[in-house]
Amino acid sequence: MMQHRDDSAGQAVPRSASDQPLLEVGIVVAGQTDAADMQAIRLMRDRLAERLQEDFGEFRWVLTLVNRAEALSRLPGSTRVEPVELLEVGQTERESQHWDFILIVTQAELRTHYKPYAVGIVARIHDAAVLSTSRLDPRSESTAVHHEGRVAAMSERLLALALHALGHLNGLVHSADSDNIMYEMARPSDLVAMQSWTAEQKSDVVENLRLIADVRLEEQADAGRTSATSFYVRGAWVNRHEIADAVLQAHPWEFPQRLGRLTTAAFSTVLVLLMTAETWDLASSVTAGQLAGLLAIALCVTTAFVAAKQRLLVRRGRRLTEQTVVANVAAVAIVLSGMMTTFFGLLGTTLAFQVLVFRTSVVKTWAASLHEPWTFAHSLVVASFVAAMGLVIGAFGASFEEYNYFRHIAFVDEET
Ligand SMILES: [Zn+2]
Repeated sequence: MMQHRDDSAGQAVPRSASDQPLLEVGIVVAGQTDAADMQAIRLMRDRLAERLQEDFGEFRWVLTLVNRAEALSRLPGSTRVEPVELLEVGQTERESQHWDFILIVTQAELRTHYKPYAVGIVARIHDAAVLSTSRLDPRSESTAVHHEGRVAAMSERLLALALHALGHLNGLVHSADSDNIMYEMARPSDLVAMQSWTAEQKSDVVENLRLIADVRLEEQADAGRTSATSFYVRGAWVNRHEIADAVLQAHPWEFPQRLGRLTTAAFSTVLVLLMTAETWDLASSVTAGQLAGLLAIALCVTTAFVAAKQRLLVRRGRRLTEQTVVANVAAVAIVLSGMMTTFFGLLGTTLAFQVLVFRTSVVKTWAASLHEPWTFAHSLVVASFVAAMGLVIGAFGASFEEYNYFRHIAFVDEET
């Protein structure tokens, strides 16, 4: 396996700084890169190390560059790649490293799902970003640019893009100022002006970095003695705010709209069930306890099915790490909240449909075994029952969602 290591930026840090908390950024160059790209990436790494040390000097920064030229060879036609495939490359790399953040840099164009194109994507639950030089290269605008011009332009844009991504990974949101690093750029040339943090942004980042620089759970003295379950519970509890942030960033409330096949399958099921007399008879005789149990099972089964089928969980490496715990708990929480959104959407629609379309006299004959007047509570029970069924069938529909698309929705917070 071809691998080049280059730790020179780390060694540039003075020895006297060793009592400062350590932060490590891994830069993985994925796929084939030409000479100008590689030179630009190295230059960006050196300048990023300087910039981080200058702006966040209370930490000791180590930036490691790893070349994974072979990483994309298994992906056919690798001029346009799925960012989630590259996240996986970074994840594999991290298993043997202690990186706090990963930047995966590629020369290939990124496949996007929300925007016409992107020069980068940010995935908070993996503390990772993917950056593409393809549109940062001045050659994409004009063929008359010489080698030095390409290196200078690409490294400058790549540096701004890396800082922007690290800003997001530390919880920053966009700024309206075109000279702020967190400006929401419209075109790659905007990156040139994106140079500064505000004092407030800096202190927010420092606060977040302090949490990250704390000793990780797996490095604590008793780590070897705890079981995987208690390690998961502790990891999830310690990182509960980070996990909650990651879930919010993923916008699970947009799942029904983004996951067209799941939603269509769920709604078709609901319609068919509503038109079936037996559904009404069965659902109206269900007790509140049975209904609650049914709902819990439906949510758990669909979440587990989707997480497994779409391979959303990071497999543990040689040992379980806090990072893996955060990524996996967040992934499950994102899917669960997406499923709950879909459930409530189905419930609301079903209720509205019942009230508007079905007359009580008809419903009463369908719910033959019910020996009491039909009330709204009965409608609610039937709607919940039907929505839960719809969700389960819909989740099987989700297995038809394109594998990378689903992971993109769950993991990618921003296409930059
Ligand atoms: Zn952004």
